[in-house]
Amino acid sequence: MYAGIESGGTKWVCAIGTGPDNIIATERFPTTRPDETIRNAIAFFRQFTGIKAIGVGTFGPVDLKVDSPTWGYITTTPKTGWQFADLVGPLKKEFGVPVGFDTDVNAAALGESRWGAAQGLDTFVYFTIGTGIGGGAMVNGKLLHGLLHPEMGHMMLRHDWERDPFAGACPFHGDCLEGMASGPALEKRWGARAETFPPDHPAWDLQAHYLALGVVNTISILSPQRIILGGGVMSQQHLLPKIQREVQRLLQDYLKVPQILDHIAEYIVTPGLKDRAGVLGAIALAELVWEKIK
Ligand code: ADP
Ligand code: ZN
Repeated sequence: MYAGIESGGTKWVCAIGTGPDNIIATERFPTTRPDETIRNAIAFFRQFTGIKAIGVGTFGPVDLKVDSPTWGYITTTPKTGWQFADLVGPLKKEFGVPVGFDTDVNAAALGESRWGAAQGLDTFVYFTIGTGIGGGAMVNGKLLHGLLHPEMGHMMLRHDWERDPFAGACPFHGDCLEGMASGPALEKRWGARAETFPPDHPAWDLQAHYLALGVVNTISILSPQRIILGGGVMSQQHLLPKIQREVQRLLQDYLKVPQILDHIAEYIVTPGLKDRAGVLGAIALAELVWEKIK
């Protein structure tokens, strides 16, 4: 049995099981103070015996360097009270089992590779478009960390100020991808929550444009075999085809591959695990760390 934690800025989702067809129990609670939130997770997992490993996929930034004294910590997050919060330490101490630790989006990417829309691929990207925008990547079969970890939500975009005078909502950069296309950015630009916009609202063409710019940049850098777009904003069904067409338009037939020219509906997709990608990804992180040490 594995334990998984999807640690989000507003809620934590904890699950016990081995995969999408075998989840024994799930629990969710609000992200309050770190000590309290971790205590809730521990109390939930204590009900079960036979936990072999724990996986944690979390909002960040996080320290993923295994030889660092703050490995397993959330680091310089703007979220109040969570700066340098140790997530892995208390779990290790309590359960004495190996803990796999990664970003929420890398975890979701791993889940999609194990059971979802990226099965059989070795290089692909998973984006979430919700309260923030984040991207996780598997490259040549391994989750990408590098210097820190990817922060794809903060990529800089071409901004046509005449078409869109909105200065952006990112507190660090203004009009980066997250600043232009996250749920809160939509709300700030248009003065209402994105859930309330009808499909013919002008927000959606602009939204597809920004997300397509992000996708095109990602294609240019990593050459992914597939791109998965998840998160609350993507539950607008009409948005995905708009993004697919806009990616083709922006690329101008430059990349002569059938996946983009003829089969873009299978190239840019929504998560196979739907809204369970994050927590199942955490279970997959636990499985991965267990396989490594066993
Ligand atoms: P989180 O990112 O906090 O894990 P979500 O992925 O649900 O959670 O993202 C929440 C954001 O997405 C909010 O800004 C909300 O306005 C927006 N959102 C959620 N559902 C929808 C929807 N059906 N249509 C448009 N926007 C949505
Ligand atoms: Zn930014």
